[in-house]
Amino acid sequence: MNRSIEFWQTKVAGLKPEGRAFIDGKYVDSISGKTFPCINPATGKEIAQIAECERADVDLAVSVAKRRFDSGVWAKRSPTERKTVLLKLAALIQDNMEELSLLESLDMGKPVEVSYAYEMPELGGYVQWVAEAVDKLYDEVAPTALGDLALIRREALGVVACVVPWNFPLDMAIWKCVPALAMGNSVVLKPAEQSSLTAIKLAELVKAAGVPDGVFNVVTGFGETVGAPLGLHMDVACLAFTGSTEVGKHFLRYSAESNMKLVWLECGGKSPNIVFADTENLDQAAKLAARVFYNQGEVCSSPTRLLVEEGIHDDFVAQVIKYAKDYEPTDPLDPNALMGAMVEDIHTQRVMRYVETGKTEATLAYGGEQVVINGSSNFIRPTIFTGVNNEMRIAKEEIFGPVLSIIKFKTEAEAIEIANDSIYGLMASVFTSNLSRAHRVSEALKAGTVTVNTVDMVSPLVPFGGVKQSGNGRDNSLHAFDKYSSLKTTWIKY
Ligand code: NAP
Ligand code: MG
Repeated sequence: MNRSIEFWQTKVAGLKPEGRAFIDGKYVDSISGKTFPCINPATGKEIAQIAECERADVDLAVSVAKRRFDSGVWAKRSPTERKTVLLKLAALIQDNMEELSLLESLDMGKPVEVSYAYEMPELGGYVQWVAEAVDKLYDEVAPTALGDLALIRREALGVVACVVPWNFPLDMAIWKCVPALAMGNSVVLKPAEQSSLTAIKLAELVKAAGVPDGVFNVVTGFGETVGAPLGLHMDVACLAFTGSTEVGKHFLRYSAESNMKLVWLECGGKSPNIVFADTENLDQAAKLAARVFYNQGEVCSSPTRLLVEEGIHDDFVAQVIKYAKDYEPTDPLDPNALMGAMVEDIHTQRVMRYVETGKTEATLAYGGEQVVINGSSNFIRPTIFTGVNNEMRIAKEEIFGPVLSIIKFKTEAEAIEIANDSIYGLMASVFTSNLSRAHRVSEALKAGTVTVNTVDMVSPLVPFGGVKQSGNGRDNSLHAFDKYSSLKTTWIKY
């Protein structure tokens, strides 16, 4: 069924989003009673008031989470029992896709249909995958001499705090919280201040699935007053973060200043995408290069530096511009929208400052302006700069908006050098039809993931994360369980 704009508008009219925090199995106001407004960036209208939690609310949530962990009410259930509960959660996500995608769209501006048709089904599938995996993980017996038995077992950590950003609010929350829960931990989730709604809704679904009260908690509010107390808390055993590199570094400090909690960081990126002249299907490569505008360019792994070999440069740029036009900003409730609104005014202005910088450093080839839709100016046309070199700010810094910087190169060695000349190392792409070159360049690129003849591949089946200042640790795949467990060795003499 193709849902019309009227379909979604009717849904909006009937929607009354919950804005309270979720502690010990109940929706609660902040202890201070304070709230802050949640604004739809596509219209400027308020959609809800969100509980403004602070340190006292964090203390309460962590103490409840710890008590429940120590009681064993979840941690001591068998992996198969936890699987059954999490499979129910996967089904509930599927059943609530309409509301979840609408909340996501209203909260941070993404096209509702993209969320409904792609992101939510994938997310349900992700939860199912994690649930199915958890009772198929075997522990180890060490190859000791007879007379000694050494068991190596995974153990849950205790209270895991998850602090997440606003670009894929529900995805990021689930990528952290679900494997943490699967391992038997208790969780305290802090969504970004700009996008609390789906995290709050998730709490209802987690409870309905059968996770005991107090095992999963959501504390809404700001970074300094909720994120920092979580990072500094003596009873938080592990802090899983996705967000900017700058804030990621804060969490390393918080850990050092408190209890040396484990800190897992998924931070920024400035991913290179190298297109060689020997690529067989250059039209497809251009189409995929324009994927940089997906989710308004608010994607950490987005291929934002496009490196094009000299001989094909001008024709290739023209093809990328052709495909960029598909991403014309549109009302996020329009089912045909491929690009919606930026997350908030402040971020729109920040991205536009980069666009202005780009105009002084390089050549504007397309876009470069805001568009007003339904009275909101949080829409930015896909923007492409050519004549960029890797020393420019638009090539070095993460813009986190619909801005593509195109760099011309002559040789493979030069392309690799430019690609690796970044503080980040999240993803990298290479387009070529030469098999040896594909392997050679993939090996040379310093990134957590390299994609060949495609971009931005993400799946529950494979690890996701970065090197250098893009962070550490990996979400997705069986390796994600490593983040939320520690290894216990037990020696037995017989
Ligand atoms: P952010 O400003 O770093 O915020 C991320 C989270 O940290 C939010 O919940 C935020 O709370 C909290 N926070 C902010 N300041 C804090 C502080 N001083 N102490 C403790 N917590 C604090 O990032 P964002 O603007 O939401 O998201 C964009 C960034 O996320 C980009 O850099 C992007 O690359 C990165 N990202 C990375 C990945 C990845 O997997 N590598 C995925 C998605 C996004 P408030 O919202 O309340 O400030
Ligand atoms: Mg919002």
